Amino acid sequence: MKILVINCGSSSLKYQLIDMDNESVLAKGLCERIGIEGSMLTHKPTGKDKYVVEKSMPDHKVAVQMVMDALVDPEHGVIAGTDEISAVGHRVLHGGQYYSDSIIVNDDVKKVIRDCFDLGPLHNPANLIGIEACEAAMPGVPNVAVFDTAFGQSMPKKAYLYAIPYEYYEKYSIRRYGFHGTSHRFVSGEVLKFAGLDPEKGKVIVCHLGNGASISASIGGKCVDTSMGLTPLEGLVMGTRSGDVDPAVLQFICNKENKTVNEMLDILNKKSGLLGISGISSDCRDVQNAQAEGNERADMAIKSFEYRIIKYIGAYVAAMNGVDAIAFTAGIGENDAMIRKDVCDSLAYLGISIDDEANKVRGERKMISTADSKVKVMIMPTDEELAIARETLELVK
Ligand code: AMP
Repeated sequence: MKILVINCGSSSLKYQLIDMDNESVLAKGLCERIGIEGSMLTHKPTGKDKYVVEKSMPDHKVAVQMVMDALVDPEHGVIAGTDEISAVGHRVLHGGQYYSDSIIVNDDVKKVIRDCFDLGPLHNPANLIGIEACEAAMPGVPNVAVFDTAFGQSMPKKAYLYAIPYEYYEKYSIRRYGFHGTSHRFVSGEVLKFAGLDPEKGKVIVCHLGNGASISASIGGKCVDTSMGLTPLEGLVMGTRSGDVDPAVLQFICNKENKTVNEMLDILNKKSGLLGISGISSDCRDVQNAQAEGNERADMAIKSFEYRIIKYIGAYVAAMNGVDAIAFTAGIGENDAMIRKDVCDSLAYLGISIDDEANKVRGERKMISTADSKVKVMIMPTDEELAIARETLELVK
């Protein structure tokens, strides 16, 4: 069975066609600058050359049609006809408090996605447009919504409530939701199996360290806490996001620099984190290169990034009264041996010890703790597209 995975942003559309018989990627690609001048599709069929189409894409409907055309193209395509696509799995950012699992899209689901526009103003409208474009292009083919917030729905109330007047939770559903949920669910599930932990009771901390970064604590694959909040701004230091700050900082800077709250949120989302502290780049590798050359702000950016992870791990060990395994995933987590080592060296109090040789590995599923380490530590590559395809298959098979 072949499943198409779609991830729509406001002006982009990423896709992968996966053959679920052997979980192989048949083709993947990206539509960029949808609705903007200079739009283009980059299509990469597995084992064949990249195929680029520069053509106007006024909206996502046109983009979906171009993806279909590329998939069935006689030269660059990978299927004979779109009827080979059995289902489409969509990454949807925000499912509010309604969905703790993926679901086949119907009118009620579309209403919920629409009702959550307030909570995910940049992504949810694009996600809905992507779903409707696929409905139009492939009538009768089921669409499945896989919510980034679903994993966080198992958190206990004490973990997701903010200590603000309760009426805001009641009136507007203001609470911690957590994001990167598809990745955290996938990785924590794989860790339980890979580390041979009790599937019901295994306590796992997943550090998803990419340009966006978040951390989750789960017991038996069920999330009990996670660092992102109402929006993806809270928690760890990220590429351009600040993560945790005292909310009074907003008021202070607004007054001093004559800025609005919206402008400040833009700064906290887009100009902070590694970029903000270093003043160099949001990309971890650039900041590390500057650090190696002796740049003090770059050094401080990396140290703050690591320190926040170390603090959260300590908090989550306390929240779960222990931990069996810690996993590193996403661009930095999978590739950066130095950050993994620095973080783990600060966790010696948990009886953690790292095998420096094993830790040299990049992007591979690998145990990096020594045999006598009291907590298993591993690299577990995330695969959000495969996770979406698996959840879609579960619902439609
Ligand atoms: P992601 O958002 O998961 O694509 O991760 C992007 C981040 O991963 C960027 O900060 C990159 O600098 C970092 N990254 C990607 N590859 C490597 C690598 N080989 N070594 C260190 N960091 C990397």
